[in-house]
Amino acid sequence: MASIIEMVDNYGRYRRDVLNLQASENFLCSHVKMALGTDLGGRYSHVMPDGRNAYGGTEMIENIFNETEKTIKTLYNSKFAEIRPVGGHIAAEVALLSTVKKNDTIMAIAEENGGYTGYMENYLPQMFGFKTELIPYNEEKQEIEYDLFEKKALEVKPAAVVLGQSFIVKHYDLARIREICDKAGSKLIYDGSHVMGLIAGKKFQPDALKYSDILLGSTHKTFFGPQGGIALTNDVELYEKLKENVVWKTMDNYHPNRVAALGIAAQDLITFGESYAGWIVSNTYSLARTLNDAGIGIKYGPWYSESHQILLSKDNFSKYGDFRTISTKLGNNRIIADTEGRLGTAEITRLGLTDMVTLGEIVADAIKGKDVRSRITEFLRNSNIKFCR
Ligand SMILES: *Cc1c(COP(=O)(O)O)cnc(C)c1O
Repeated sequence: MASIIEMVDNYGRYRRDVLNLQASENFLCSHVKMALGTDLGGRYSHVMPDGRNAYGGTEMIENIFNETEKTIKTLYNSKFAEIRPVGGHIAAEVALLSTVKKNDTIMAIAEENGGYTGYMENYLPQMFGFKTELIPYNEEKQEIEYDLFEKKALEVKPAAVVLGQSFIVKHYDLARIREICDKAGSKLIYDGSHVMGLIAGKKFQPDALKYSDILLGSTHKTFFGPQGGIALTNDVELYEKLKENVVWKTMDNYHPNRVAALGIAAQDLITFGESYAGWIVSNTYSLARTLNDAGIGIKYGPWYSESHQILLSKDNFSKYGDFRTISTKLGNNRIIADTEGRLGTAEITRLGLTDMVTLGEIVADAIKGKDVRSRITEFLRNSNIKFCR
């Protein structure tokens, strides 16, 4: 029998000497990890509708929960926050159950345009018995086709319009979308899973909650972790519905250690969010440009991206192999990248790395087949964990 403790130790050693460019991940500050590893990880606390907790010994856990909820509301300037969902996907389930009935229709951005797979026909719609119609989208410009969208929304009259993409490089014209939703009688949900940290730092779609009925997302992509989800609203009726759709519907225990860690991370984001998000946006542009100048095709030049994501072009396939091959080549050089052609700058920014010209040249050489392991070790020597209080 292999010792799992040893396996975990080995994993920790492996992670110490790699550079992570995965857009869906982030680095956890030691005080966030500390909270995850406490006694809270084995506990329940469940305040019932009548105010009574179903469990005992929970007074301090309730205080931690309330403080975390308050911190999240402050961070996003929201009236209400549902902080229990254990992932962005669960937050999306909670939001949809609160806005959409069986046999209703929602509108969402197609998977082929970077939309989240969960909203496509075979997943959440199938599970909950509603239908998804696609939002017309211009792939080249990375923009919703607003006129076509308006026409279709007025025909379809979706119960909810769900914005957000897993491949997200540009903000939306939310004032315009809000108007369309009002005309069509639709709730507007913004799934900001990838960009919650950038929204908190006011450097990407800072008006997300101003125009949406619900802003939801993961707490571990550009947000500082831990893995989980939140749903925010300024509408008291929607908030009551969100609360009802958590316990015994989409989940039961909310994992009090995770909520404690979330509160600590949110306090860090209140302190450092704007500076962090500013660095992300400038790192992204400079890394994208360096890679593109080095011959690695990057989509949507000359602006490339307004977020933490850089999207590789399929033009690379003929020269350097498909996305999977590129991910393998990078992995062999201790550079972690997904197999979907997406690079992200959240984690390297957390490590205080700002020399994107050097990094871009290293990454480009790795994609071209060179061995860059010693250059990565050297580059990481300049890392200096930032944005942890
Ligand atoms: C990642 C993602 C999700 C799922 O989030 P989890 O936290 O992994 O459950 C949902 N929506 C979008 C747009 C995402 O990118």
